[in-house]
Amino acid sequence: MSKDKQTEISRRDLVKLGVGVASASAMVLSGFQALGQNNTKKKKKGAEAAAKCEMIGDNDPMAKSQSYVADKSKVDLAKIEPKEKAQYYSKRMETEWKDQYCDNCLLMAPDPEKSAPKGFVKCQLFAGKCVAGKGWCKSWAKKVG
Ligand code: SF4
Repeated sequence: MSKDKQTEISRRDLVKLGVGVASASAMVLSGFQALGQNNTKKKKKGAEAAAKCEMIGDNDPMAKSQSYVADKSKVDLAKIEPKEKAQYYSKRMETEWKDQYCDNCLLMAPDPEKSAPKGFVKCQLFAGKCVAGKGWCKSWAKKVG
């Protein structure tokens, strides 16, 4: 084999190697793009859910009637009417009070991840409006299962 022929083969090999590296790079790049698109889709889904979900405020009349609070740590049980206080201090409520949140309430809509933005759930009592996952109201009932 002549020296020129060897050089030509080496060039061919180099070109092939270059094409192979370029293809592999393109595959890796498309993999990263797919991953990025997946994250973008998830963010978009959360944003769509947030756009569809009407938030309920602590001052909403319906929320007030149910003593709803977005931040349960603000609930002052001593200020709740005596008639209702008896209910709150009952054996069942005493033992479960610390664990009562909107995000484990029987009345939250199913599939909270799909229907509400992160940190919120849709409440069936409030006609599907969004409430804070760590919120609470006096209609809280233990979710079964
Ligand atoms: S009914 Fe349940 S989910 Fe709805 S606001 Fe009250 S505690 Fe939260």
